[in-house]
Amino acid sequence: MTLDAFLSDTYRRFGPPKPMNGTVEDRDWPHFFLHRNFLGEQDLAILFNTRRCRYQCKFCALPFKATKEWIGADRVLQQFRNVVQEVRHAIGAFERLTIANEGSVFDDTTFPQDALEQIVRSVRAVPNIRKLVIESRLEFVRSGTLRRLTAEGGKRIDVLTGFETLDATIRDEVLGKREPLDLFLSGLDEIAGGGAELTAYVLFKPSPAMTDEEARDEAEASIDFLTDQCGRRGIPLIIRLNPMYLSRGTPWAKAALSTPSYLPPRLSEVMALASAKQRDGVRIYYGLTSEGLSEAEGTYRGREDFSSALLKQCIVSNSQRPSLGR
Ligand code: SF4
Repeated sequence: MTLDAFLSDTYRRFGPPKPMNGTVEDRDWPHFFLHRNFLGEQDLAILFNTRRCRYQCKFCALPFKATKEWIGADRVLQQFRNVVQEVRHAIGAFERLTIANEGSVFDDTTFPQDALEQIVRSVRAVPNIRKLVIESRLEFVRSGTLRRLTAEGGKRIDVLTGFETLDATIRDEVLGKREPLDLFLSGLDEIAGGGAELTAYVLFKPSPAMTDEEARDEAEASIDFLTDQCGRRGIPLIIRLNPMYLSRGTPWAKAALSTPSYLPPRLSEVMALASAKQRDGVRIYYGLTSEGLSEAEGTYRGREDFSSALLKQCIVSNSQRPSLGR
């Protein structure tokens, strides 16, 4: 193999395009991990291999990849050790650690909380890590837990969660979120009370029946709503803007395939909205992966505006630290 081919192959297998695993049978390994640049910060993201998420949102196939069996603290801690061993030469560079499990890390029926606490405490030994990002639905988030973990780990906590959309009908009927807006807002109160930050997924075109124009307006309304609600509570916010993809085998995919007008979102429109919001000072990260759950034509790659130059602009934006006042 030539040096060029070797580097290109290594980049695709271990860099940002690293493919997500299917089902991981070895419980000593997580579903996925990646050393990535997240808005200018060096992030170690780990998707732990734990018991399946107890929800069945209509657009999400992630739970099918996970086991129905309980995976105890020992196995979860071994997963963490194995990842740290893999990335050990970069340990001094990490500024954030993202802890996720394709579900809710704060749900004690899926993720062993003693393992979470041990991981949080252990990260004290890595001074450069300033933030722990923990993924969860907000009904599992408690301000007391956030304050305790902040004290134990000596790091800022950022709660990563799916907001998806402001539209109540799409939340309930199209996405099957089972998280009414008032429940989400109570969760924001817990985050504020816990002195934590928020990173929220917003879906661009969450309903297959939407036109491109409706998708843009709705995503903008969702971003504005989150910005306002977080601003009122003093919660620092990052939006993770995800162009919706057609996740194989889900009820959402079935509905999309039986909607004659369905088209995935146009990446150029996702970018135009994100750029406008970034100019207003909103921090936005593009969710560019379909997590191995969709064919290319079920994603923004299937639209006529797609080009690798466009994708590259999004990747560059994802790696840049937002400038103050932008
Ligand atoms: S979107 Fe989140 S809560 Fe819903 S099924 Fe998927 S992992 Fe579970």
